[in-house]
Amino acid sequence: MNRRPRPLAAPCALFAASLAFLLCAQPAHAARIFIDPGHGSIITPGGGVDPGAVAKDSAGTVIAKEKDLALQIAQRLATELGKRGHEVQLYRTGDVTATPVDRMTWLGASDPADSATWQRSETITKGDSLQARCDEANASGADLFISVHLNAADATSATGYETWLTAEDRLGALLASYVQREVIASTPFRDRGTKTEQFYVIRWSHMPAILAECGFISNPTDRAYVTSASGQSTLARAMADGVDAFLASEPYRQLWPRISGTTRYGTAAALSLDGWPTGARTVLLATGENWPDALASAPLSHKLDAPLLLSTPSTLPTDTAEELARLAPDNIVVLGGTGAVSDAVVTAAASAAGVAPRDVRRIAGANRYETAALIATEVGVPTDGRVAVVGGESPADAVSISAYAGANSIPILLTETTRLSTATADFKAANASTWRSTLIIGGTAVVPDAVVSALPSRRRIAGPDRYATNAAVLQQLHTAAGLHYVANGEAYPDCLTAGVRGAKSAGAVMLVQPRTLGNYQRLYIENHETRVRAIRMVGGTRVLPIIHEWMIDKALR
Ligand SMILES: [Zn+2]
Repeated sequence: MNRRPRPLAAPCALFAASLAFLLCAQPAHAARIFIDPGHGSIITPGGGVDPGAVAKDSAGTVIAKEKDLALQIAQRLATELGKRGHEVQLYRTGDVTATPVDRMTWLGASDPADSATWQRSETITKGDSLQARCDEANASGADLFISVHLNAADATSATGYETWLTAEDRLGALLASYVQREVIASTPFRDRGTKTEQFYVIRWSHMPAILAECGFISNPTDRAYVTSASGQSTLARAMADGVDAFLASEPYRQLWPRISGTTRYGTAAALSLDGWPTGARTVLLATGENWPDALASAPLSHKLDAPLLLSTPSTLPTDTAEELARLAPDNIVVLGGTGAVSDAVVTAAASAAGVAPRDVRRIAGANRYETAALIATEVGVPTDGRVAVVGGESPADAVSISAYAGANSIPILLTETTRLSTATADFKAANASTWRSTLIIGGTAVVPDAVVSALPSRRRIAGPDRYATNAAVLQQLHTAAGLHYVANGEAYPDCLTAGVRGAKSAGAVMLVQPRTLGNYQRLYIENHETRVRAIRMVGGTRVLPIIHEWMIDKALR
C-alpha cells in the first residue's frame, strides 16, 4: 500500500459559511504544520512494516504497537489544529512505502561536490524512510514539524511525556517548551521535560521541529491513557494549545537584512541602492518580464560598475525611474532589443536619469546567444583565460555562476543543447589565443559533453538539479567567507539582480526553493559555516518567506 500524504481539508469547509466564520475564523497566527506519525514505513524488499515499540501481555501477545498509536494521536492532533485554522499535512494515514530518496542526502555526504555521482535508492531502508519524511515535510513548505512517537522501556515503571529537539534549532526549542508545558498542565503525564538529541527527522527537516514521546506503551497506566479516545483527545488539544502558544509569541522574526521592494522592479532598485549608495556613472537596463537578455549581465555590470535596473517593455516603472534619478548616471546601456525594452521606455529612462538620448546605447543580438556573445566581447576574456558556458534554455545555472563570474570578470556564454551556439563558436574563434579554460555550469542534459568538446580545458560544475548545481558552485568556487545573497530560485528577476549585486561585493547567490532550502544548500551551510558570514535576503516575504531565515539559522548553528 502506497498511501501518499495529503493535506487535510479544513473541517470548516463542511459547514455553512456563517457557521464556518464563527467556528473556524483564522487564528491570528495560522501556520502550516507537518505532522509525522512515527514508524509505519514499509521497508523493501521483504523488510515488512516498522512497528516502532511494541507492548505485549504476560502471554507474549502483542497488545499495542507504537506505529498505530502514533498515527491515532497524530490524526487527532491534525484534526484539532485544522479546526483552529492551521493548514495541516500528515505524512501518513496508514502504513506507507516511502518514496525513494537521494542517498547522498541521508548519508550526510560531507559536500555535494565531493561525489561524482548522485544516486537514488532502489530499495527502501530505514534511512530512506526517515529522509523521505523530511523531504515530504520540506517540500510541503511547513512552518513547523511535529513527529509523534511513544516511548517504551524494559522497566514497566517508566512513565511520562517528553519533547525532543535538536540543539541547533532555536525555534524548535521554543516550541518544545510550550508543548511540554501545555501537555503537563492538561494531562496526567509525569513531566520528563524537554531533551536534546539529533534524531533524524527533527535534524533533517529544515523547519523548526520537535519529536514528542507521548508516554510509555510499556507502562500500563500510560498505555491505558494513550489508547483511550478521551486520553488521545485531551493530549491532542494540549499539544495544539502548545503550538498556538508558541505561535502567539510571534517567533518568526526577521534575522538578516532584507533587500526588497514591493515588485521585482522595486527589488532591483533596492539592490541598486544597496550596492551603489552614492550613485553610478553607468546603469544597465533590461526587461523584467523575461530573463534571457540579462542572463550574462553580471560581468558587464562589474566591468562598468553599473547596477542593473529593470523595466516592462512598454512602461518605465516608477521605482526604476526614481532609482535612475538617484543614481544620476552619465549613460545607460540597454540590454535587449525594442521588443524587450521599447524606444519609449528608453526615452523615459533617459529623461528620468537626466542623460541625453545619445548617451543611451543598446546591446542587442538577434537572440539570447548573440546578446550574451556581444556582452562577452565587451567584457573580454580575463588574463587568467577563463570563460563560463551555461545552457541558454533556462536561467538557473547562469544565475548560479553570475556573482562569481562577475566578480572575476569571466564572461558568460550560452549554448544550445544540440549544438554549440553559433555566437559562442564565433566568440571562441575570435578569442582563440586568450580563452584557455572553460567553466561549464550545469549537467550534461543542458550542456552535453559532445556540444562543448571543442572548448579548451573544461571543468564542469553540476548537480542533479538547479539547486544542487547552485550548491556545487558555492562549494567549489565561493571558497572565501563572504556575503551570501539568498534568492528564490524560481523568481528570476530577483535572482538575476542578486547576481549583479553579488558580483559587486564578491558575494555569492544562494538559490532556495520557493518554500524551503534544497538539501544541498543545507549541507553547504552546515559544512561551511565560516564562509556564510553574512546573509542578505533578496525579495519580499511573499517571494521569499521569513521561514527561510529560520531554516538557514537551523543549518548555521
Ligand atoms: Zn518511535
